[in-house]
Amino acid sequence: MRATLMYGAGDVRIEDVPDARLVEPTDALVVVTRACICGSDLWPYKTLEHSETGRPMGHEAVGVVEAVGSNVSTLKVGDLVVMPFAYSDGTCLFCQEGLHTSCIHGGFFGTADVGGAQAEAVRVPQADGTLFVLPVGKDDALMPSLLTLSDVMGTGHHAAVAAHVASGKTVGVVGDGAVGLCGVIAAKRLGAEQIIIMGRHPDRLALAKEFGATDVVSERGDEAVERVRELTDGFGVDCALECVGLGQSMLTAIQITRPGGAVGRVGVPQDETMPASQPAFFNNVTVSGGPAPVRAYIEELLPDVLEGRIEPGRVLDRSVSLEEVPEGYRAMDSREAIKVMVEP
Ligand SMILES: [Zn+2]
Repeated sequence: MRATLMYGAGDVRIEDVPDARLVEPTDALVVVTRACICGSDLWPYKTLEHSETGRPMGHEAVGVVEAVGSNVSTLKVGDLVVMPFAYSDGTCLFCQEGLHTSCIHGGFFGTADVGGAQAEAVRVPQADGTLFVLPVGKDDALMPSLLTLSDVMGTGHHAAVAAHVASGKTVGVVGDGAVGLCGVIAAKRLGAEQIIIMGRHPDRLALAKEFGATDVVSERGDEAVERVRELTDGFGVDCALECVGLGQSMLTAIQITRPGGAVGRVGVPQDETMPASQPAFFNNVTVSGGPAPVRAYIEELLPDVLEGRIEPGRVLDRSVSLEEVPEGYRAMDSREAIKVMVEP
């Protein structure tokens, strides 16, 4: 089958690899009908050391179940499923608490063992707990929005939940990428009164306003913090959504949060240490978040997608074939595209 491998920074190739197949009795084999390139795929695209073997890429997908292992009981061949970016058994201690990304039998896609979703097919471990059957056909018009339930919409929602967004709250969203934009959708959906989007790309900021952002801050650093305070009676926001992962963005998220507020961070941190420990301490700011348990959020978010109340699929502003995936990486890395959908 054809699949995406990254051999080093900027070196993405589509190659023939051994067909994905069932390995464990708890596996399903899924033929990928839609996949994505993720903002988090851009980190290795900038920094990955060269290797001879290449890294399988892709962790977001919708597809059709092609085969199931002997211990799979809730899925059947032909089901259309959404695949969260992490696999999980759905039954362990942490899955029962809704923290599927800490599943004791779980793990992540895009490894030599499990393979990636930017491919014709993917092996899905712990299929019963991982996959969610969609009640639509594989070419449904809602497909882009349904695809975001595999990562970015669930991740934006997790940022909002971790930042304690609720009715009447003021919210600052740091980052205008796909996750930040989905964070705006999530904040609006949870009843935020004021939503300040922080970013510098006019097309993305326009989309953020359509999603419910009430204010835009395009300054950076101290000027950005000052501007947010001006917009919030001088104190800052109740809830900050950190959707980038850089030290500067985390610093900004903590600095714009009012005393007693909370930061929900979902940007994969690029540093070992967290900035602004002292301001966070003295302001009693809660810092929470991590890899989103998107599997836990599908049930909650799906009705809003199916009934058109939210349209997160609008962040997918470019579509490519599998063979065009390297061009998709280039377009996202150069910020020509917000997020790229792959149609194998
Ligand atoms: Zn589990």
